[in-house]
Amino acid sequence: MPQQVDFLVVGSGIAGLTFANKAAKYGTVLVLTKKRKADSNTNYAQGGIAAVFGRDDKPEYHIEDTVKAGEGLCHKRAVRTMVHDGPGLVNELHAMGCRFSVDANGRFDLGQEGGHSRRRIVHAKDHTGQEIERVLLEETKKTDVTISENEIALDLVIRDGECLGVYYLDADTRRIGLVHANATILATGGIGQIYQHTTNPAIATGDGIAMAYRIGAKVANMEFVQFHPTAVFNIKIDGRSFLISEAIRGEGGVLKTKDGVPFMDNYDSAGNLAPRDVVARACLNEMMRTDSRYVLLDVSHLPADFIKNRFPTIYETCLSWGIDITREPIPVVPAAHYLCGGILVNEWAESSIPRLYALGECGCTGVHGANRLASNSLLEALVFAARAADKMKKVTGAKFGKPVKIKQTAKTGPNLLFQIKEIMDRYVGLIRTDEGLQIAKANVDRFRRLFDNGIHIINAESRNTVVVAQLVIDSALERKESRGLHYMADYPTKRQAYSRDTIKQSQGGT
Ligand SMILES: Cc1cc2nc3c(=O)[nH]c(=O)nc-3n(C[C@H](O)[C@H](O)[C@H](O)COP(=O)(O)OP(=O)(O)OC[C@H]3O[C@@H](n4cnc5c(N)ncnc54)[C@H](O)[C@@H]3O)c2cc1C
Repeated sequence: MPQQVDFLVVGSGIAGLTFANKAAKYGTVLVLTKKRKADSNTNYAQGGIAAVFGRDDKPEYHIEDTVKAGEGLCHKRAVRTMVHDGPGLVNELHAMGCRFSVDANGRFDLGQEGGHSRRRIVHAKDHTGQEIERVLLEETKKTDVTISENEIALDLVIRDGECLGVYYLDADTRRIGLVHANATILATGGIGQIYQHTTNPAIATGDGIAMAYRIGAKVANMEFVQFHPTAVFNIKIDGRSFLISEAIRGEGGVLKTKDGVPFMDNYDSAGNLAPRDVVARACLNEMMRTDSRYVLLDVSHLPADFIKNRFPTIYETCLSWGIDITREPIPVVPAAHYLCGGILVNEWAESSIPRLYALGECGCTGVHGANRLASNSLLEALVFAARAADKMKKVTGAKFGKPVKIKQTAKTGPNLLFQIKEIMDRYVGLIRTDEGLQIAKANVDRFRRLFDNGIHIINAESRNTVVVAQLVIDSALERKESRGLHYMADYPTKRQAYSRDTIKQSQGGT
């Protein structure tokens, strides 16, 4: 594995791979990824990728829907960029061999999801992310990109205020190494694993955000954690709850109480296609009202052949657990799903630290504001990764000097994941209060003190989840209002004074 490159990418999901494939034209590229290449949130995306292709659709409509969902916090220029660049890049994926679903005329078979005023979800049945990941990984074989698996990035190298690369742990040899780079690109995905109920796989421990925060990069809007309303109740695979895509409601699926009574029309005029935060809180409310640990999602009234053909993964997976969704409803619960905030970046993925960039879910371009519109996340990752690669061709000339000796603690860090999850689920979920957040803060601050300033090669992820949980709690405490995904029972309305991003920055060394 090279020890010095032009572009060092951490993460092999849609953001990291899109960037790597494009940047390979401009210099040497190394991708470090902490498990196998395809272990990413990207691989599990079901619903699709939003882009304007419909005959009745226009970029203005997509922009309008995105901004409406974002409740006053979207960075509008970034939204416009995403919407305008999206279709070209989706076509590019298609041309690379991505098997998106098409109709009899060869046009994309566009799906519908909550908050979108038009059909604009390009999808590959219900395994869109897996198909995108496959094609992007195939594409790397046509380039000189090196992908190194089982390498866990631990901390960023900072010298004279610039980011010069990454310290990593080789999970096979248990050795720590250092890679120097002209540009370090974090594409490490989300933070779902800080919650007990999450749709995110085990890799989603917020490593990139914690690493960037530790060296003083600005981190924004961490309070805006999206909960997906419909994850299968009480069944987990590899630490994640199985998601039932919103597209299933787009095709007519209906949410019901455990007694079979439809309830979404009581909450929103858009019914089952209301924005995710509204649906998730409605589900939680109905669970409390009916004293149930789940609600039901029913598609059994739709033709069985249609379900099996349009949602093969969901159908087969549920069937393997004894739930035949063509005949019976699925018990579902809300689960942590997506982070709208992250490392604050501009429209070229530049963070507040020179030579450090962030892409995809670990970055915050501001396109989602206070709430992400379904299927805009794959789009955001794709668009800004492509732009960043084009802009970064001129990033050269870092002065690396001698490799800095790593500061490694003799102790190993404690494994706190379980405790963190319990606290986050209980106090920092869909409905928050000042009192609950203060309890969460006191606990997580205590955990934080268990880690000193050295690099912990054991439980590095645990160390990161503590930092990320603290960022979510502190940001939530700061926003004394309810807006988008952040609902505070003590302050149930939106307040003009908070029409701004919540920004957190450490003094380094945390
Ligand atoms: C179940 C599910 C369904 C979804 N459905 C949709 C959908 O239909 N449409 C949509 O737009 N979005 C969807 N999303 C969200 C979307 O999939 C993600 O936001 C997007 O894939 C994130 O891409 P990414 O490249 O930023 O990160 P990821 O795809 O998560 O990739 C992160 C990469 O970083 C690596 N990594 C992490 N930490 C380290 C470290 N310390 N060292 C080295 N490597 C590291 C990981 O191993 C992984 O390779 C869904 C998410 C989930 C979980």
